[in-house]
Amino acid sequence: VNRTKKEFNNLSSFSGDILVECPHCRKKAHVLADIEGERVPFVYNARRVFRCENCFQPVDPKAWYGPIIIFPAYGKCSKCGSDLKGKSRVVKKYQSKMKARCEVCHHEQFYKTRYETIQANDEQATDPYIGLPLWLQIPVGDEILWAYNYDHLELLKNYVSAKLREAQVGGKYSLTWKLPNFIKVAKNRDKILKAISRLEKKLL
Ligand SMILES: [Zn+2]
Ligand SMILES: [Zn+2]
Repeated sequence: VNRTKKEFNNLSSFSGDILVECPHCRKKAHVLADIEGERVPFVYNARRVFRCENCFQPVDPKAWYGPIIIFPAYGKCSKCGSDLKGKSRVVKKYQSKMKARCEVCHHEQFYKTRYETIQANDEQATDPYIGLPLWLQIPVGDEILWAYNYDHLELLKNYVSAKLREAQVGGKYSLTWKLPNFIKVAKNRDKILKAISRLEKKLL
């Protein structure tokens, strides 16, 4: 019977062995994490190891290699106190200061920044630990379809192929509950299955 399994599948159950692109040789590598008792997105304390079985070069497991979003630390114009929340910017490397211009009084200056990491958006997806690009990611229309590893990819495939979608269990951490809408929309099914089969064939 072709049905989505009624299992508790949350993203963290796939996050112990994540396939990424090695920053040195660009081949498939692993980010391995001790995820006992951890839940995405609360993974920051998990012990993690990077391993490339092609070039064996190391990566600092405490560094963040992915994109980050920076924004003025206090979020207010220093002159008139207006909101600067819209002034965030996506950058590749952290910058401790950024220029921002107030929309209300037009005062412009450099502000100290705070930052957040970005794990997945419409353009790319990274592992949640050190921010390396996921090995299994592919554009589907304006979105990015991504998976942490082949088990995760298979679950997505089963989900999309399922003719009957049973009510999902597992609460707010259930993977299928958290799937982006474009995966759930029936009219995208063929496009997504094609993208998944291209990922399945991706060589080392
Ligand atoms: Zn490598
Ligand atoms: Zn202002």
